[in-house]
Amino acid sequence: RAKEMGRNCFSFYTGDMNASAMAKLELEAALSRAIERDELRLFYQPKVDARSGAIIGAEALLRWERGGAGLVAPAQFIPMAENSSLILDIGAWVIDAVCLQLRHWMDAGLPIVRIAVNVAARQFAAGDLDVVVARALERHDVPADCLELELTEGMLISNPQEGTQMLQRLRNLGVKVSLDDFGTGYSSLAYLHQFPIDALKIDQSFVKRIGEVPDGAALVDAVIGLAHRLRLRVVAEGVETSTQRDHLRRQGCDEMQGYHFGRPEPAAALQAQLTAQRGALLGA
Ligand code: C2E
Ligand code: MG
Ligand code: MG
Ligand code: MG
Repeated sequence: RAKEMGRNCFSFYTGDMNASAMAKLELEAALSRAIERDELRLFYQPKVDARSGAIIGAEALLRWERGGAGLVAPAQFIPMAENSSLILDIGAWVIDAVCLQLRHWMDAGLPIVRIAVNVAARQFAAGDLDVVVARALERHDVPADCLELELTEGMLISNPQEGTQMLQRLRNLGVKVSLDDFGTGYSSLAYLHQFPIDALKIDQSFVKRIGEVPDGAALVDAVIGLAHRLRLRVVAEGVETSTQRDHLRRQGCDEMQGYHFGRPEPAAALQAQLTAQRGALLGA
């Protein structure tokens, strides 16, 4: 069918459609079916408490198992989905799937953790994110503070008034909000203090510099200070080495995430880690 469609498109755009544009159309068509074909998967990457090292939650990261052809990374399809309303369906699917997973873990008696979900710009701008979130929480009977939404600065800066109102509605629900990739966008320090958010996630490009270049930690240290001054939690992402871990810990970073602690893996892997952690606590 994809081939058939491809041919139609080709005759339609006679000639000026190259192979990569064709491939893109096919990819788009396939992605639009991914939900109904049950091809979307969530991987979970642990977040640890910087002081105790205990797993306190995870970030849900989307993968697409495209027609049995292996896992497609989000960078390969999220930007494309963001060009259309497809991202709204995908985004809602992710939020619902995370709440369902949280419900399973609560039913299994696992310690309560918080799962972070990435939100796309278009999804935030749509204006009904709070409704989508509330519906999923209610459907699966999950406490709101088990859910954290990761936004980026750009989404708020592009429309600070409406953005602030949406943040307020999300806060009223009880979900947590963090600013992802902090420092890479238009970091409008002027606005930062007036957005009702809970945490800053220091971008991995800054974390990577710790111990690698002279004064590589300068930005990280400054962001930790800034966040705490504004009474925000700080999460460091992309922590890969014990040097980075030790430095972040010394600076008072609150939470850490990165390959040093664990890669994104299917839910079962996180469940096993949480079970082991509970066992260790009970056994002690
Ligand atoms: P992000 O939210 O900043 O997620 C962090 C990315 O860094 C993830 O890539 C993660 O696998 C990777 N990472 C984590 N620890 C390390 C580390 O120690 N070293 C290195 N080099 N990388 C690390 P991933 O899973 O490929 O996701 C890429 C981006 O795709 C995410 O960046 C996020 O912006 C987006 N994304 C993922 N899932 C979703 C989703 O459900 N919805 C939306 N809208 N975007 C998503
Ligand atoms: Mg994120
Ligand atoms: Mg990030
Ligand atoms: Mg990132």
